[in-house]
Amino acid sequence: MNDDESPVTTKNQKIGVLYLVATPIGNLEDFSFRAVETLRRVQLIAAEDTRRTRVLLTHHGIATPTVSLHEHNETRATDQLVLRLEAGTSIAVVSDAGTPLINDPGLPLVRAARHRGIPIVPVPGPCAFIAALSVSGLPTDRFAYEGFPPRTSSARRKRFEALRDDPRTLAFYESSHRVRETVADMQAVFEPERALVIARELTKLHETIVSIPLGEADTVFADPNMLKGEFVLLLEGATTTEQRDGLDAEQERILRVLLDECSVKTASALAAKITGVPRDAFYRRALELNSLRDSEV
Ligand code: SAM
Repeated sequence: MNDDESPVTTKNQKIGVLYLVATPIGNLEDFSFRAVETLRRVQLIAAEDTRRTRVLLTHHGIATPTVSLHEHNETRATDQLVLRLEAGTSIAVVSDAGTPLINDPGLPLVRAARHRGIPIVPVPGPCAFIAALSVSGLPTDRFAYEGFPPRTSSARRKRFEALRDDPRTLAFYESSHRVRETVADMQAVFEPERALVIARELTKLHETIVSIPLGEADTVFADPNMLKGEFVLLLEGATTTEQRDGLDAEQERILRVLLDECSVKTASALAAKITGVPRDAFYRRALELNSLRDSEV
């Protein structure tokens, strides 16, 4: 870790340090001591929206000057920031919320700094999909962050189709304007039994985290409040035959439907009767599915 805020000395000159500082995703108190200290001690803060960042800085008594770094000025701003870093100015990059570069500006600057040998230091903190994943009860050992799905329904379905067999937990960002349509497109592509976690307004007053089978997600949006705010959508990955304990997709589907209605024992016995597969295979898998459901939020 490099927590020395002073510019780095090279043979002939001092160069600055580029810090990537995560900021809160709602609750202004979700800001590490180190993040506050870093923003106090650098000479300049490059912010996605300087007015929004000023609210956070004022809340924490930080008076460091800011400049804009957003998607529309990124190329020009990157050149200028690199010149300033090379002249010895230490700079922190922040976005409107969460971790810079996660669907936020900063990649060209990080690349340019890396190319020029400028030291780059992460100051980690909040990230909306990581926060959602941590409470979701879905597998966290392997996941795929997919950012915002495409805006049109046909492109979205195409993207989802490409992900249909992916066994990893899938993480998406979505805006309130499109969340319902996006979930409808998920329903058109993925199996209805998959768990969907809708994480809304994380760390804010109206934080809501719902875990529901994808096929039943419409019931969530019957509440108009569930169409407001910022969203992370997490979808259970495809179940591989290995994970299904040798059951095929149809046998797994039957077991999941029965588990919605009956105990592990009855569901396994009925599934065995319906399919002719030995009860033990269903029983082991039913226990696993039940423990996953117990962890639902
Ligand atoms: N850099 C951010 C991060 O680290 O999570 C993401 C920035 S991206 C432009 C903004 C999107 O992140 C929102 O549209 C929403 O999908 C998600 N998001 C940000 N804050 C959130 C929150 N408090 N609750 C739920 N989703 C959030």
